[in-house]
Amino acid sequence: MTISSASGGGVSRRTLLLGCVAGGAGALATRASALEMSHVKVSKDCVHYTTAAVNGHRCGACKLYVAPSSCIDVSGDVGPDCGCRIWLPKAA
Ligand code: SF4
Repeated sequence: MTISSASGGGVSRRTLLLGCVAGGAGALATRASALEMSHVKVSKDCVHYTTAAVNGHRCGACKLYVAPSSCIDVSGDVGPDCGCRIWLPKAA
Protein backbone atom coordinates (compact mmCIF):
# COMPACT_ATOMS: atom_id res chain seq x y z
CA MET A 1 0.00 0.00 0.00
CA THR A 2 1.20 3.47 -0.68
CA ILE A 3 0.38 6.52 1.38
CA SER A 4 -0.51 8.47 -1.73
CA SER A 5 -4.17 8.44 -0.85
CA ALA A 6 -3.43 10.05 2.49
CA SER A 7 -0.57 12.34 1.58
CA GLY A 8 -0.34 12.69 -2.17
CA GLY A 9 3.31 11.65 -1.90
CA GLY A 10 3.18 8.20 -3.41
CA VAL A 11 5.79 6.88 -0.96
CA SER A 12 5.07 3.44 0.39
CA ARG A 13 4.11 3.22 4.02
CA ARG A 14 6.79 0.58 4.54
CA THR A 15 9.46 2.78 2.97
CA LEU A 16 8.51 5.71 5.18
CA LEU A 17 8.61 3.58 8.33
CA LEU A 18 11.90 1.97 7.38
CA GLY A 19 13.38 5.37 6.67
CA CYS A 20 12.36 6.44 10.15
CA VAL A 21 14.10 3.61 11.95
CA ALA A 22 17.13 3.25 9.67
CA GLY A 23 20.20 5.28 10.43
CA GLY A 24 21.19 5.49 6.79
CA ALA A 25 21.06 3.65 3.50
CA GLY A 26 23.69 1.15 4.61
CA ALA A 27 21.69 0.19 7.66
CA LEU A 28 18.39 -0.07 5.82
CA ALA A 29 18.47 -3.78 5.01
CA THR A 30 19.47 -4.74 8.54
CA ARG A 31 16.91 -2.43 10.06
CA ALA A 32 14.23 -3.68 7.66
CA SER A 33 14.76 -7.20 8.87
CA ALA A 34 14.75 -6.07 12.49
CA LEU A 35 11.52 -4.14 11.99
CA GLU A 36 9.78 -7.10 10.45
CA MET A 37 10.90 -9.35 13.31
CA SER A 38 10.05 -7.02 16.19
CA HIS A 39 7.67 -4.16 16.52
CA VAL A 40 9.32 -0.75 16.57
CA LYS A 41 7.45 2.50 17.07
CA VAL A 42 8.55 5.56 15.14
CA SER A 43 8.54 9.22 16.15
CA LYS A 44 5.71 11.62 15.42
CA ASP A 45 8.06 13.84 13.42
CA CYS A 46 8.97 10.96 11.15
CA VAL A 47 5.38 10.32 10.09
CA HIS A 48 4.46 14.04 9.98
CA TYR A 49 1.99 13.73 12.84
CA THR A 50 -0.23 16.77 13.27
CA THR A 51 -2.95 17.84 15.68
CA ALA A 52 -5.43 17.89 12.81
CA ALA A 53 -6.70 15.29 10.36
CA VAL A 54 -4.46 14.67 7.32
CA ASN A 55 -6.35 14.75 4.05
CA GLY A 56 -9.53 14.10 5.98
CA HIS A 57 -8.07 11.08 7.77
CA ARG A 58 -7.91 11.18 11.55
CA CYS A 59 -6.43 8.87 14.16
CA GLY A 60 -9.82 7.91 15.56
CA ALA A 61 -10.66 6.28 12.23
CA CYS A 62 -7.25 4.64 11.77
CA LYS A 63 -6.62 0.90 12.03
CA LEU A 64 -3.54 1.60 14.18
CA TYR A 65 -5.31 3.74 16.77
CA VAL A 66 -5.71 2.32 20.28
CA ALA A 67 -8.19 4.32 22.38
CA PRO A 68 -7.94 6.46 24.27
CA SER A 69 -4.57 7.89 23.18
CA SER A 70 -2.11 5.39 21.68
CA CYS A 71 -0.92 4.22 18.29
CA ILE A 72 0.51 0.83 17.41
CA ASP A 73 3.22 2.32 15.17
CA VAL A 74 3.83 5.87 16.48
CA SER A 75 5.37 6.67 19.86
CA GLY A 76 3.80 8.97 22.43
CA ASP A 77 0.22 10.00 22.99
CA VAL A 78 -2.00 10.55 19.97
CA GLY A 79 -5.40 12.19 19.81
CA PRO A 80 -8.48 10.87 18.04
CA ASP A 81 -8.77 14.04 15.95
CA CYS A 82 -5.08 14.14 14.97
CA GLY A 83 -3.48 12.51 11.92
CA CYS A 84 -0.29 11.46 10.14
CA ARG A 85 1.05 10.17 6.82
CA ILE A 86 0.75 6.46 7.58
CA TRP A 87 -2.98 6.43 8.35
CA LEU A 88 -4.69 3.14 7.52
CA PRO A 89 -8.44 2.59 7.20
CA LYS A 90 -10.10 0.36 9.74
CA ALA A 91 -11.42 -2.90 8.36
CA ALA A 92 -15.03 -2.64 7.28
S1 SF4 B 1 -3.15 8.32 11.88
FE1 SF4 B 1 -3.02 6.18 12.57
S2 SF4 B 1 -0.85 5.65 12.33
FE2 SF4 B 1 -0.98 7.89 12.34
S3 SF4 B 1 -0.64 8.49 14.50
FE3 SF4 B 1 -2.85 8.33 14.14
S4 SF4 B 1 -3.38 6.26 14.80
FE4 SF4 B 1 -1.17 6.31 14.46
